[in-house]
This record gives sequence, C-alpha cells and structure tokens, in this order.
Amino acid sequence: ASGNVPQKIQRLDEAVVNKIAAGEVVQRPANAIKEMMENSLDAGAISIQVVVKAGGLKLIQIQDNGSGIRKEDMMIVCERFTTSKLRKFEDLSSISTYGFRGEALASVSHVAHVTITTRTAESKCAYKASYADGKMLPSKPGGLAEPRPCAGNQGTQISAEDLFYNMPTRKRALKGSEEYSRIADIITKYAIHNSGVAFTLKKHGEPVADVRTLQSSSLTENIGTLYGASVGRELLAVSCENSRLGFKMSGHVTNANYSVKKLQFILFINHRLVDSASIRKAIECVYAAYLPKNSHPFIYMSIEIAPANIDVNVHPTKHEVHFLHEDVVVESVQRAVEDGLLGCNVSRTYYTQA
Ligand code: ADP
Ligand code: MG
Repeated sequence: ASGNVPQKIQRLDEAVVNKIAAGEVVQRPANAIKEMMENSLDAGAISIQVVVKAGGLKLIQIQDNGSGIRKEDMMIVCERFTTSKLRKFEDLSSISTYGFRGEALASVSHVAHVTITTRTAESKCAYKASYADGKMLPSKPGGLAEPRPCAGNQGTQISAEDLFYNMPTRKRALKGSEEYSRIADIITKYAIHNSGVAFTLKKHGEPVADVRTLQSSSLTENIGTLYGASVGRELLAVSCENSRLGFKMSGHVTNANYSVKKLQFILFINHRLVDSASIRKAIECVYAAYLPKNSHPFIYMSIEIAPANIDVNVHPTKHEVHFLHEDVVVESVQRAVEDGLLGCNVSRTYYTQA
C-alpha cells in the first residue's frame, strides 16, 4: 500500500492456502452435497439419504449404503489430495468415477465440522471420527486421534455442521430457504440421472421427504414423480449415436402438448451434471417452431462422449463444458429432438404452423 515500493513476496501458510482452496470448491451447501453424493455413487451406493438443517448451513448429513471407508484410511481421508480413485495423471483419460482429485472432503473439513461414521463389509463394527482442517481430531482433548468403534450398518454417514463457521462473510450472504431449493434441485437432478439408486432429501425433524425416489422406480417414473405427472405423461424418448466420433445421446423430452414458462434443461455429459449453451440453444430453437411463444419444454438428456474427446480435468465448480466435434454433436442432438417431435402426432402444432 506504499506508493511505488515493491512489497516483499512471502509464501502463504499451508492453512491459508487450504482455506482459500476450500472456499472455492465449496461455495455453498449445494456444492458440498453434490460432492458428497458423488462420493456415495462412486462407492456403489444404491441408497442415498440427505438430511439438512437451515438449508445445509447448520447441518448436512448424508447417509449411504456404499462400500464404506477402511478404518486404516480414516486418518487421511480428509487431507487434501488423498484419493482412492486416481494414481497417475494418465488415468484421467479413462476415469469412470466422479471424484479423482481428493479435494472434496478436505474442503468441507476446512469450512465445517465434519464427522464420518463408516463401515465396510469386512468390518465387524462401524468406526467414527471427527475432523477439522483436514485432520482427524482426538476424541478427547490431549488424547490420540483414532477412529472410535461404534454400531452402524455398512456404508458411510458424513455430517458437516456449521458450514462456513470460519467464513462469516460467506455465511451471512447465504439464506437458508434459498439454499434449500438449490439442494433440492441438485438432488432431484441426480435422482433423475441415477434411477436404480434411491434418493431422499429431508429437512431435519420433518417426517416427510421433499425429494424421494425408490430404488425400483424407472427413469420416466422418477421424472413424473419429481417434475409432475403432466411432464411424465408427455415424454418422448430421443436418442442418437455416432460411433465414429465417439458419442451417444439418450434422453426424455416433452412433446408439443406440454409447455412451461421456464425451460427445464437437465444435461449430463459422461454422468456429470453440466451446462452446454450450444446444446441448450439448438434444442430451444427446435421447440420454438412447436410451442407457443415464451413457453418451453422439459429436457433430460444424457450424453456420453469418448473420454479422449472431452477434458474432465476442470475445476469442480465449472459447469459449462466444451468437447471435440461440438458442432456435429449439437447438430445430431438437434435432429434427434426434431425427429422425436415430428414423429408424435400433435394436431395443434399443424394448425398453428399452417
Ligand atoms: P475424491 O472423490 O476426488 O477421491 P474426496 O475428497 O471426495 O476425493 O474423497 C476422498 C476419498 O474418500 C475418496 O477417494 C474415497 O476413497 C473416500 N470416500 C469419500 N466419501 C466416501 C463414501 N461416501 N463412501 C466410501 N468412500 C468415500
Ligand atoms: Mg469426491
């Protein structure tokens, strides 16, 4: 701050570095929940139950029935860059898990009080430990940091309390009710994409879930349950594939009988929830010819692109994706939707088009 005199360059403390990084990965409760849901899916869970208090600001609790975490890994599980999913950089091109950078739990532990209870299939009991700033805490002050045996089913329960307790500005900027709807939105989208996995979202202390799918319900049943029966009734299955360019798409979109004020666009690319302005625009353009002005469809689409054609190594909070042969992919997705809409016999469309 003193005129033209250069300031001394100093190395930041590791603790400061970690806290800055954590604040980037976990920007709000919904980010933390997304990361933790992805861990549950990576662990093979078929049931994921989320409970939150105050929109996740007071409590996030997520329980799964996945593989669990080995007792001997519990010491380092919340350290930065510790992962069971990636060994070499080259592995990234074939990675099939959501996670790989080992930053999520570390980040959460830098901005909240984390407790993990977990049990593997081999273990006779569950183990529990609490964490702060990446490290396991001793169970009593001055004691040894080690997981405590306890009762529990196979799988993992992670709770994060008092999110952003050490980042008061961030905390003040967030409103519980608004955060709750973001959480519901992201869990809903994951539940749609992962039929075969049962999801629930509840407010702490409430008897009924706000989001709920069953393990046995199908993708289209889940769309009907979560987005409304009127959407469920008007769905068209669309798909396309190009093995030469290494992509395929399958989706469910509403027909010309259905329209709403706001576009509902759910896009997963290689099982990651993303946005693609080019795909979104191309689809909206098709519907413009079929729907009344200022009204929009419901779109759920899952695209798989050969890993060589897409860069997965982007920051966890980056949402917009780009990939090779984008024009061709966008065009064939657009054509698939157009074909779907044409194929369904909706008289009103033809009257207004004449
Ligand atoms: P990443 O997912 O990138 O590996 P995370 O910080 O999200 O990093 O998780 C670190 C590690 O903790 C994972 O690699 C995994 O081994 C373990 N883990 C986290 N959550 C779960 C879970 N719900 N079930 C089983 N293992 C988990
Ligand atoms: Mg992860």
